[in-house]
Amino acid sequence: MKVLLWFRRDLRIHDHVLLHKAQQINAQYLGFAQAHLKSSFENTGEPRWGERKKQFYLETISDLKSSFESKGLPFWFSDLPLSKAIETVEEQFIPDEIWCQNAAGWEEREEVLMLAKKYKLREMESQSLYSLEDLPFKLESLPFIFTDFRKKVEKHSEVRQCYSTEIQFSGAQNIQTPELPELSFLPIHPHSAFPFAGGERAALERMKDWIWEGNHLSTYKKTRNESIGTEYSSKLSAYLAWGCLSPRTLYWEIKKYEREVLSNESTYWLYFELLWRDFFHFTCRKEGSSFFKSKNIEKQIDQSKWMAWKEAKTNNSFINAHMKELAETGFMSNRGRQNVASFLLHSLKIDWRLGAQYFESELIDFEPANNYGNWTYLAGLGHDPRPNRIFNPEIQKQRYDAEGKYVELWT
Ligand SMILES: Cc1cc2nc3c(=O)[nH]c(=O)nc-3n(C[C@H](O)[C@H](O)[C@H](O)COP(=O)(O)OP(=O)(O)OC[C@H]3O[C@@H](n4cnc5c(N)ncnc54)[C@H](O)[C@@H]3O)c2cc1C
Repeated sequence: MKVLLWFRRDLRIHDHVLLHKAQQINAQYLGFAQAHLKSSFENTGEPRWGERKKQFYLETISDLKSSFESKGLPFWFSDLPLSKAIETVEEQFIPDEIWCQNAAGWEEREEVLMLAKKYKLREMESQSLYSLEDLPFKLESLPFIFTDFRKKVEKHSEVRQCYSTEIQFSGAQNIQTPELPELSFLPIHPHSAFPFAGGERAALERMKDWIWEGNHLSTYKKTRNESIGTEYSSKLSAYLAWGCLSPRTLYWEIKKYEREVLSNESTYWLYFELLWRDFFHFTCRKEGSSFFKSKNIEKQIDQSKWMAWKEAKTNNSFINAHMKELAETGFMSNRGRQNVASFLLHSLKIDWRLGAQYFESELIDFEPANNYGNWTYLAGLGHDPRPNRIFNPEIQKQRYDAEGKYVELWT
């Protein structure tokens, strides 16, 4: 059987269900990924792929392609729109079936529905830590509040073991794949909290370095609200978002560390954050398009306020510093994201969806469920038992940047 293995947010070889199943049945498979890098948002015309996000993604694709090619197998990447991209593949490889990850996100769902009209399509689970079938409730009955979700899952569900996968030679051969788009190689900012490259190799290295070499997992709960440097948090979000790192691989690494080194509230807390990730993932799948819709939108927005937020020119230096970090590096701490989002919503009274779209374009770790889930949560439209979650930037600055080091760094 000929199978097109469509890599989505699972851009890796390890713990890869599609590769595992394809090799199990000895399918003749071709690895394929697609992203329409020139696409823009319909409502604003702004690009969806900021330069840093694009660079991280292409580094990731390049790493995956070289893993395939090191085994003598082709990997096809296309930046054409999806159906056009697959038509081009078909000039050399006509699949009997297309297999892909069941990815959260409404547009991702629409892509699958569109392809299913023409191809035999099979989706498999690999984006979340827990598999859908192992949750102690059906998707329709997913708890509305995170704490209820967490308590039930912790008590009743188990994380599966990883697939042991490496590429074997049952893949398709003698195929001329297109060249990758050129990488722009943006210089890394000297103060970047994320000076790492994209790709599976870099992801596994970062995980090992942060957990084992630096022992940072042991103090994570104390440091996770900081904003300066590479070590205060894991910096694994971009790798998890694009699937360079499997959440299960990370989970089993935490367990190993707990067995061999120590188990404390910090080691638990990294797992706790992975549960947030799963909560948004399943909520997004359950709610479909309504996850991305909002009530209470201000119809008119004040353009000057909106531009000031984006361009780090508001009247608040703490907010500006964070927005500058985002623009210069493609990354911002969780604390920073909460503050700038709250400021946009509550101080500037601007439609949260514009902020979320800007994050979508700029963040190297953009992922639909996590991004839109966190934004609606802060906007009081999502799954928050406390509807008015307002962060006072002055108090936040006192608490998290009392000496002004962060503001100084990014001013
Ligand atoms: C407005 C807003 C938008 C966000 N957009 C995204 C996004 O597009 N992609 C994304 O991965 N994260 C997003 N987050 C969540 C969080 O800020 C980042 O995951 C985190 O800052 C990344 O740094 P880290 O990997 O060092 O995190 P760590 O603190 O080391 O956490 C480990 C992992 O847990 C997960 N995680 C941590 N916090 C959250 C959270 N609040 N919600 C869901 N998962 C979490 C991430 O996968 C992260 O890599 C957003 C948060 C806010 C407030």
